[in-house]
Amino acid sequence: MFKFTEEQLMIRDMVREFTANEIEPRDRDMDENGFDFDLIPKLTEAGLMAIHLPEEYGGGGGNTVISEIVINEIAKGSASVALFLDAHWLAADMILYHGTEEQKAKYLPLVADGKVFAFGLTESNAGSDAAAIKSVAEKQADGSYILNGGKAWITNSGIADYYLIMAKTDPEAGNKGISVFVVPKDAEGLTVGKFEKKMGMRGTGTCELSFDNIRIPADDRVGPEGRGFMIAMQALDGARVSIGSIASGLMQHAMEKAVKYAKERTTFGKPICKYQAVGFKFADMAAKIHATDLMIWDTCQMKDEGQRISVEAAELKLLSSRWACEVTDDCIQIHGGNGYSREFDVERFYRDAKLLEIGEGTSEILRMVISGSVIGR
Ligand SMILES: Cc1cc2nc3c(=O)[nH]c(=O)nc-3n(C[C@H](O)[C@H](O)[C@H](O)COP(=O)(O)OP(=O)(O)OC[C@H]3O[C@@H](n4cnc5c(N)ncnc54)[C@H](O)[C@@H]3O)c2cc1C
Repeated sequence: MFKFTEEQLMIRDMVREFTANEIEPRDRDMDENGFDFDLIPKLTEAGLMAIHLPEEYGGGGGNTVISEIVINEIAKGSASVALFLDAHWLAADMILYHGTEEQKAKYLPLVADGKVFAFGLTESNAGSDAAAIKSVAEKQADGSYILNGGKAWITNSGIADYYLIMAKTDPEAGNKGISVFVVPKDAEGLTVGKFEKKMGMRGTGTCELSFDNIRIPADDRVGPEGRGFMIAMQALDGARVSIGSIASGLMQHAMEKAVKYAKERTTFGKPICKYQAVGFKFADMAAKIHATDLMIWDTCQMKDEGQRISVEAAELKLLSSRWACEVTDDCIQIHGGNGYSREFDVERFYRDAKLLEIGEGTSEILRMVISGSVIGR
């Protein structure tokens, strides 16, 4: 039986109000025009950029439950802004969990101060098969590294101040030859490509990165050499819980719009919500949202207790991302022809939902993780 504490309820209400005032009103515009940079000082001022980081680094000292409350509430106003924060935390958490004391003291206060972080694993020829990345960080005699290669589909690129980049330090060693590096946006040799013209989540920045002989000091390698794959996969476990939180928020946002519409729209002399065919769609939506929420808070509690959550996070993302696609599809159906128009929000929600089945591990890859735990590898 999961119950929020008084403090968690207070934070939920604060973020709910912030979302209604500052985030939801921007979502449609960001879909047209891209990320709104004015949000960064607002999120910073509200203490949301680093709500889960320890207070000694300027964070809010929250646990996983609190950080997912934030993502979930923000997603009720904008899936894009929730994804922005998810990617920012995914990157910053690698420093939190695997950085040295010096790295934490250097970078974590910047997270709290409104500097944006991004997570760079995928390359144009290596997404699901992450161990096949080709970017190489070659160790120099003085201990520094020279990074060459590139990345694709990096959320927050073009916005981020710091990129956490996975690159091969031993190209012959497969996934045991990958290390993680901090690359600042002004590093000499870093080129950030144009914003991708995406189907959905258009309020986030997504670009290619290219690395041309970027010199990285030894102090900016995060975690031991060769442990980067494990560090990235562990970070993705946490981020998959956030995808569940985004799915839940997005489903609730879409359902709310569809309920309002179904009460107002009449056909054959009755509001369409009075037809069982429409009402039953809401029943299915409510059940999917409830089940998603139970999985979110259960997985958060496990993480806060220090348990491994790879399988539970994969299960949560697998189901909730599919349900988000189904719920937003049903919400369009309830809107009839209007649902197919950009004038109505549900059309945007449907496009946003699809990303949840692809980013941070496709549903097929998640099924491999889950089935591996059931039948053994
Ligand atoms: C909007 C957006 C934002 C993103 N943000 C980031 C980010 O911030 N950082 C980052 O590093 N990456 C990011 N990504 C990349 C994302 O994680 C990858 O797109 C995803 O992991 C899939 O990789 P891929 O595109 O190379 O597809 P592929 O790996 O080529 O897969 C293609 C299809 O084949 C299936 N498939 C592949 N291998 C198998 C297998 N063994 N068994 C069964 N099916 C298989 C996949 O499930 C998929 O359906 C983002 C992507 C998008 C679209």
